[in-house]
Amino acid sequence: MDYRKNQLIELDITDLGSEGEGIGRTGAFLWFVKGALPGDRVRASVMKLKKSYGYARLQELLRKSPDRVAPPCPVAASCGGCSLQALRYEAQLKFKEQKVLGNLRRIGGLELSGVQLHPIIGMEQPFRYRNKAQFPVGTGRDGRPTAGFYAGRTHSIIPCEDCLLGVEENAEIRRCVLRWMEEGGVPAYDEQSGKGFLRHILVRKGFQSGEMMVCLVTNGECCGENSALQLLTERLMELPGVTTVVQNINTERSNVILGKKTQLLAGAGVIRDRIGSTEFLISAQSFYQVNPVQTERLYATALSYAGLSGRETVWDLYCGIGTISLFLARSARKVYGVEIIPQAIEDARRNAARNGITNAEFFVGKAEEVLPCQYEKTGERADVIVVDPPRKGCDEQCLATMLRMAPERIVYVSCDSATLARDLKYLLADGCYTLRELQMVDMFPQTVHVETVALMSRKNT
Ligand code: SAH
Repeated sequence: MDYRKNQLIELDITDLGSEGEGIGRTGAFLWFVKGALPGDRVRASVMKLKKSYGYARLQELLRKSPDRVAPPCPVAASCGGCSLQALRYEAQLKFKEQKVLGNLRRIGGLELSGVQLHPIIGMEQPFRYRNKAQFPVGTGRDGRPTAGFYAGRTHSIIPCEDCLLGVEENAEIRRCVLRWMEEGGVPAYDEQSGKGFLRHILVRKGFQSGEMMVCLVTNGECCGENSALQLLTERLMELPGVTTVVQNINTERSNVILGKKTQLLAGAGVIRDRIGSTEFLISAQSFYQVNPVQTERLYATALSYAGLSGRETVWDLYCGIGTISLFLARSARKVYGVEIIPQAIEDARRNAARNGITNAEFFVGKAEEVLPCQYEKTGERADVIVVDPPRKGCDEQCLATMLRMAPERIVYVSCDSATLARDLKYLLADGCYTLRELQMVDMFPQTVHVETVALMSRKNT
């Protein structure tokens, strides 16, 4: 059948796409409808047509899915963050499990019958879990400064007074900054012209320590009188929980939030947090997992999959600030961490020293270069290799070296099940390894993202 733009269609939604959009069919034709959920019957208007699929805009819910709930956040539909908020939490978890298993079967060609599949680990409280918030600052339609989140796929700011994924303190911090801007006539940064002063408000909280950092990202050093920033700093430091305020200067015309230079306005410039028994110092720039409750569960899974007895040589590739490395170091003979960002490795070394960990060594560089280079130099095998790559997964050179090093176990921590599937296919292809266990952990409730830990072990052991 031929469809035209703006034509109204009626659909039963049967599935969710990878971005959380509803999927339904008319005959063999597939439709993507943002905001629709499996179990809904909807009326939608045709927006865009391709050969075998199209996009349609939700116009009316003719029948509501039994899994549909009222999203507690008033801007859930327009903000680009929480694409699953209208879906009951148990159904979100089911969607994530199916998404991962589907990718492993389809992209990885994996037959999962012999694999121990553990039920996904969800959260008891799937809101207020983020230890970090970053609000872009802009000028609202009324000409007043505003801050919130970008609408999906755009850079228009949806004002958001209290994001329910973040901590309650964020609301007061945001208000305090906006009030200061209005009082002092401080202009918000404007992406189009590159003019204006305040670009982002970044807040981090150590859930264990209760310490909070506010980082003001500004387009240049100062705005008007020097004392203006001082006044804001004093006000922020009076708010409950805030222990340090820093300023990051970013004059680049780009989407990257932080610039290179950070300067101290008040307090220590870092906050403390703990994962298990390891303490970390976190600066504005440090990469740090955003969901501390689930991170601990994720790392505990990785540690148990590593099966350490205290005698092992372990590599932790893509180690960030060494969180997994230090977690494993207490149970291994030696841990080597590799990370591409020099600043993160500095943090890793400092955190090792701070915790009295002397058996962890860190390398700055690409995993796919450092690992082969070190293996060639020392010939030292690994007992366990842990990888936790970014979404794009591992480089083939890295995977090939891992196989040559023939560890007893490979633990793959993944934030993208499509690249996980691709990499598992590669690692399992020569038949030396078996996929043993899979554990998904919901690190990002209300969003489509999910973490997976996979354990592979060598067959002849
Ligand atoms: N394991 C850490 C960080 C995981 S995020 C944790 O749990 O906190 C992935 C990390 O891989 C990032 O810190 C990123 O900077 C790093 N990275 C990206 N490409 C890399 C590469 N080719 N080699 C080494 N590290 C890389």
